[in-house]
Amino acid sequence: RTVYVNGEYLPEAEAKVSVFDRGFLFADGVYEVTSVLGGKLLDFEGHAKRLERSLAELDMPSPISMEDLLEVHRELVRRNDLDEGMIYLQITRGAAGDRDFVFPDPEVTPPTIVLFTQSKTLADVPAAKTGIKVISIDDIRWGRRDIKTVQLLYPSMGKMMAKAAGADDAWMVEDGEVTEGTSNNAYIVKDGKIITRHLGSEILHGITRAAVLRFAREAQMVVEERAFTIEEAKEADEAFVTSASSFVMPVVSVDGVSLGDGMPGPVAARLREIYLDESRKAAV
Ligand code: PLP
Repeated sequence: RTVYVNGEYLPEAEAKVSVFDRGFLFADGVYEVTSVLGGKLLDFEGHAKRLERSLAELDMPSPISMEDLLEVHRELVRRNDLDEGMIYLQITRGAAGDRDFVFPDPEVTPPTIVLFTQSKTLADVPAAKTGIKVISIDDIRWGRRDIKTVQLLYPSMGKMMAKAAGADDAWMVEDGEVTEGTSNNAYIVKDGKIITRHLGSEILHGITRAAVLRFAREAQMVVEERAFTIEEAKEADEAFVTSASSFVMPVVSVDGVSLGDGMPGPVAARLREIYLDESRKAAV
């Protein structure tokens, strides 16, 4: 596989980052994941804009223009002959000579940028037909979840807790209300209404979320952006999650309680279809 590191395309075995890199030492970095279908990028512009915002929130200069970033994405797709899968992008505050909590001067210590591809079936997956099971866990993450940082230890632990409980993923709960999934935004459907938490610093502003809500409103579906409790979720008619790599994924049980008839609901199925159709058409 060819990967991109700081301006160079290299075989993965030759791609290296310093042990002093602040991404490694402090999780001082941000990332994006963009899906590829039929060799084309989904929602690239949304991911690029969120990346710029994440960088700005952390006072990190961007090491690359958004036009060049699109070119690097496309070049990696070409070089790795990627038809379906993901492109992972990470930018960290770089490697100063010593370990120091204080940010280094970006003029002296440039950011580190890494991109690589991962080939994976995304569209035609069995889980889209069976749905997934989620458990609830406490949301003990930091308070700036709107910044897409590489601090993913707790979400990883959440996935492990889900696995240990015989489920597929975890929904995180704060003050009784669902914030989001470990790596996705969370939704319930009740009496035909699509309910998902409002934007704020408590959740990541999902690019897929924005697209799916737009498509839902265009299709005259009713959307309510508000917090919902885990109790409401257990009484919902259906539920689903969205993310760049899972698109729209139906949820069929919450903390062991089956939703509806225990099969993916019609709203989730329809939104998955619309999202896939529309984002394929708009793919670059
Ligand atoms: N929420 C969290 C915590 C995530 O990690 C992700 C994606 O990785 C999302 C939501 C979904 O965001 P997007 O649709 O931009 O992939």
